[in-house]
Amino acid sequence: MSKVMTLADRLQKARVASTPEVSDRAKRGLAAYVGAQAQGMQAIADLADGTAATAIGQLGLSAMSPTGLDCASGCAFCCILSGDDGGTITESEAVALHSTLAPLVGQRDGRAWHPKACPSLDPETRTCRAYDARPMICRAYVSTDVTACEAVSNGQVAPGPGTLGPYHTYLAAIGLSRAALKGTKRVATYALSRVAAAAVEGKSLDDALTAARHKPAELDAELKRSKRDISRAS
Ligand code: SF4
Ligand code: SF4
Repeated sequence: MSKVMTLADRLQKARVASTPEVSDRAKRGLAAYVGAQAQGMQAIADLADGTAATAIGQLGLSAMSPTGLDCASGCAFCCILSGDDGGTITESEAVALHSTLAPLVGQRDGRAWHPKACPSLDPETRTCRAYDARPMICRAYVSTDVTACEAVSNGQVAPGPGTLGPYHTYLAAIGLSRAALKGTKRVATYALSRVAAAAVEGKSLDDALTAARHKPAELDAELKRSKRDISRAS
């Protein structure tokens, strides 16, 4: 109980570089998550590995019914990733992704379809081979115009694709978790494409996490991009 109270106090004092609305939503979500945990140690572990942030993001997504989307199974321009990072994911998401992809070692992966495609992708069907374990960044990215997605995948700027609000809340929740646990537990983030590549190449979970772990500044940079995107959308 005292540990839960201490964590609640730390969360209350935590700050994150997001908009006040998103920060407040993430903080309320984390407070509710922690309050619902019977075991303080479990709440701390869930904040540290991103389980709590992901739960908050997924709850937000489940409350939405966006319309007019072009998204469909086998439509995978959004799985063509820029750079070698592919996007920010939490430790719990990295572990789930690795666990799903590790048995597929040796199989052809998305890069047989497109050199920059996510290694989680099936190159023939262009569907995600880790669909149930796909991270928030994949769940929240949608588009009203698939031709714009193709243009974006070719490095152009085009309106249509974008990230739903719960992704920003999830990111803020990771930042708040890091601030609340500062000095006690590491709250790391990871590169989606590097985790997936390591898994399909047969690397162990530990090696995959080591290869894909972000420097702390990467979350700060992603939070800045998120804040800019929120401002543009409002
Ligand atoms: S985001 Fe774009 S590429 Fe991805 S499924 Fe939706 S329409 Fe297709
Ligand atoms: S994890 Fe799945 S949905 Fe996400 S980018 Fe990779 S193939 Fe696409």
